[in-house]
Amino acid sequence: ITFKELGLQENILTAIEAMGFVTPSPIQEKAIPQILTSDQDVIALAQTGTGKTAAFGLPILNNLDSSSQSVQAIVLCPTRELCLQIAKELESFSANMKGVRIQAVYGGADISKQIKGLKDNPQIVVGTPGRTMDLIKRKALKIHDITWTVLDEADEMLNMGFRDEIDSILETTPEEKQTLLFSATMPSEVRRIASEYMHNPIEIAV
Ligand code: AMP
Repeated sequence: ITFKELGLQENILTAIEAMGFVTPSPIQEKAIPQILTSDQDVIALAQTGTGKTAAFGLPILNNLDSSSQSVQAIVLCPTRELCLQIAKELESFSANMKGVRIQAVYGGADISKQIKGLKDNPQIVVGTPGRTMDLIKRKALKIHDITWTVLDEADEMLNMGFRDEIDSILETTPEEKQTLLFSATMPSEVRRIASEYMHNPIEIAV
């Protein structure tokens, strides 16, 4: 199967081709058409290095409104390094899309620069849970138009003690969003998040 057959639009296909992506990975093959065509919540069991970023990033980019000035997707991940890596990859995926902006926000870095970045009206924010919650509280990150929330490496975020921040973010963001939870393992804390905040999720494993 090809990326084209998964239903992605042309300007995304040319970008991932330029990145050297030829064949979708197993998680991409399952997750991309699902997320593209349905707003049902998704739990995906996947290890790191399996192509998770494209599995959630490509369908979100495909379906977002690039003419809108609102944040439409929040991607939560455990570390600054992962935030930067995901943001960079999403930028490459959207290289041929006009007007798409992505902002990374993470702790241990100057918050005023990140607030400035949010004023450029990114459609996607990739953040660590603490800094993301902080920016929501300061109203620098506006969440009224959130359509997707991604929890990347959910088990890792909970191991690192981000439980309260994740709870707050999932409670504060609009109820009708699509939640995509990616985790290498499914300990009870991850199950609790899923049962408390996700509606009728479909499970994907590879
Ligand atoms: P990830 O699991 O999202 O961190 O991806 C791991 C690495 O594999 C990244 O460097 C991606 O750019 C690359 N990658 C992801 N999907 C594909 C694919 N279908 N073909 C080639 N490389 C890929």
